[in-house]
Amino acid sequence: MTSIGRGVSQAASAIRAAGFAAVARRHLSLVVLPVLVVVSSPPAAAQRLDPISYAVRIVQPDTHLLDVDAVVPTGGRQTIELMMPVWSPGYYKVEDYAANVRDLTASTPEGAPLRIEQTEKSRWRVETRGSRSIRLSYRVFGNERTVTTNEIVADYAVLNGAPTFITLAEQARRPHDVTIGVPAGWQHAMSGLRDLGPSRFRADDYETLVDSPILAGTLDVRQFRVGGKPHYVVSVGDTTGWDAEAGVRGLQTFVEESRRFWGELPYDKYLFLIAFRPGGGGLEHRNSNLSTVVARSGPRGWASLGLLAHEYTHLYNVKRLRPVELGPFDFGNAPVTGSLWISEGVTSYYSGLLMTRAGLQSSDDYLASLSSLIGNLQNAPGRLLQSVERSSLEVWGNSNSGVSPAATTVSYYNKGNVLGVLLDARIRRQTRGRHSFDEVMRLAYERYSGARGFTPAQFREVAERIADSDLTQWFEDSVSSTKELDYTDFLEWYGLEFVPSGGKIEGNWTLRVRSDQTAAQRRNLADWLAPSTR
Ligand SMILES: [Zn+2]
Repeated sequence: MTSIGRGVSQAASAIRAAGFAAVARRHLSLVVLPVLVVVSSPPAAAQRLDPISYAVRIVQPDTHLLDVDAVVPTGGRQTIELMMPVWSPGYYKVEDYAANVRDLTASTPEGAPLRIEQTEKSRWRVETRGSRSIRLSYRVFGNERTVTTNEIVADYAVLNGAPTFITLAEQARRPHDVTIGVPAGWQHAMSGLRDLGPSRFRADDYETLVDSPILAGTLDVRQFRVGGKPHYVVSVGDTTGWDAEAGVRGLQTFVEESRRFWGELPYDKYLFLIAFRPGGGGLEHRNSNLSTVVARSGPRGWASLGLLAHEYTHLYNVKRLRPVELGPFDFGNAPVTGSLWISEGVTSYYSGLLMTRAGLQSSDDYLASLSSLIGNLQNAPGRLLQSVERSSLEVWGNSNSGVSPAATTVSYYNKGNVLGVLLDARIRRQTRGRHSFDEVMRLAYERYSGARGFTPAQFREVAERIADSDLTQWFEDSVSSTKELDYTDFLEWYGLEFVPSGGKIEGNWTLRVRSDQTAAQRRNLADWLAPSTR
């Protein structure tokens, strides 16, 4: 996840109110879709359970409402429990999605009303009267511009799974099918989910559904292929001022570099889902990301290439390789982990590094970005009050970035990224350039991206194996304590120094290549920033 700025929704609401009033009374005829979506299930063992089928209709988008009809199998039980999540993976904040659910009713397939009772904020109980399936009808209000909520406006909809789909409260891996009915004038919907037809999708389980945001509207769709796999850049909103060609080329270059680094593209297709709208921020998913971007071109076609590179890198680091607490998920309870410095900070380290290795930014730009990163950390009083491990553990009671406004906290994005830089330099220096943090990440990815994630000790063990030395003290000092970080390995291995600039002496952390940098140090610096090889 990356969030940029705060108070985005307040700033946006005034624009919305003014902008969409004009079209409020525009007549929109519907593309009529059947309420029941019948799908023949493949015989795979995981799909023996009957699917829950949702028909989502966007009738009058300017009202910010979705109509949802769901057919929910009951297994013949007399009562069933239904639920909605209270959080979304990657966004470490408890949210109240159920508050936007309206007019919830349950009935038999023949239309006889059934008793439905809200037992908790995000849970319901239905008495089925023995019906093999029930029909749920409800509406969802969505007018928020965050990457975990819904925004339904006159010309597009950004839909997320957690705030949209009520499901059975169960552990089973049950398929969930979704059909999106859009108003005339809109084209269709796209998502990382498996396509069953135009605007029709299947998720093999609820977690996949929650992990797959959907864009609907008149979509701007661009495509490139890497390793034979299709990558789509799908956007909604006002693209005026966006250099699409350069933007797509930049993403392709980054994907190619990532494939070289990680050795594979672990998906059938990948979607960059872009909402061009005020604000900023992105959220990672297994084969897509949803990002809020302003349509201003930067040097590579994006003002936000770094954001998109960060979210893409997450498909390896956090969506697959992950702390043991982060998946499979319990959507009714928030998971607590001390390892977000790896999941977020090291993700930022590698997205910045791979952008440099891919030539998407110069070495000078990269060193300048490290200067401000290190400067931000070394000027933050919270670094001496809270360890980066605690920052991660306490994120749920804080804010979704682990940073409280009271300046008593440290950012696991910021310090985690610096720790990536320092641990990499330490391993390179200790092994005289034979090994690096790159191998740590690849070995950890090999071991801990499947059914089970890593514990802090397991991640340290992988690092120690590559470094061929005991790193207990380094992890204790850097991760679990508030001691000042030691930059010696970093400065010595690459031949860098911190210099005062702009007339400031104290608190200045501008990095510069030393004038007496040796040939070996020059080589070390070049090796670090050279394109990935395996
Ligand atoms: Zn992130």
